[in-house]
Amino acid sequence: MEILSNDMSYNRCADFAKRIVSEFVSFPCPACVKNMPEGYSGLCGECFGKLPVVMPPACPGCGAENDGIFEVCGKCLKEEKRNWKKAIAIMRMEDYGRELLHRFKYMNDISLARPFGMIAASLLEESGLRPDFIVPVPLHWTRTFTRGYNQSQLVSRIISAETGIPMKRILRRVKRTPKQANLSGTERRKNLKGAFSATDGEICRNSVILLVDDVLTTGSTLSSASSALLECGVREINILIMARG
Ligand SMILES: [Zn+2]
Ligand SMILES: [Zn+2]
Repeated sequence: MEILSNDMSYNRCADFAKRIVSEFVSFPCPACVKNMPEGYSGLCGECFGKLPVVMPPACPGCGAENDGIFEVCGKCLKEEKRNWKKAIAIMRMEDYGRELLHRFKYMNDISLARPFGMIAASLLEESGLRPDFIVPVPLHWTRTFTRGYNQSQLVSRIISAETGIPMKRILRRVKRTPKQANLSGTERRKNLKGAFSATDGEICRNSVILLVDDVLTTGSTLSSASSALLECGVREINILIMARG
């Protein structure tokens, strides 16, 4: 009883503290640190206006803008058939979008997880998809150790908080793969074969999953991660990426 009342008073204090903080402390736009965030994006209007966001109609294979001649875009036509149903991309890997993503991934600018996560959550809601779980694509533990964080996991956590859909870290990167940038599509696929394993069959079985990653270039990483989930019994995969490379 005493423990319960202590808990209750702790919660009341924590709520009160949060109200005070939100009343008197405001946080500037995490991208430019000069204006205040506006609207749903977590960025100021100026920064949001500079983001190269994807305009519909989008390609279901990679989330990029599609010219609408075929169901998927020209780049996806040249790739292997995707093993996910639909891809959603926040933006193109260009200009200010590339700069912010670079800061977020390599320069420890983790406050950018919030705007990326908030925009992603609103795109997910607009899409009508209602996954059972959100699964971030993991880094190999050695890379998480040197970087200190996994950007896809930080964004997944915000999407989960915004939408109420639970995040589950059920993928493991079992193979450390060299940087993909200078490899051809075939080399990338070979490199990433068996790179992931799914660790919880109970969660996977018959579930619909939203797989979250930072960039899709050829799609080899997401395809390898999706294969591990499908082998574990997942029924449907949709993917969400911050940028289409
Ligand atoms: Zn700004
Ligand atoms: Zn495409």
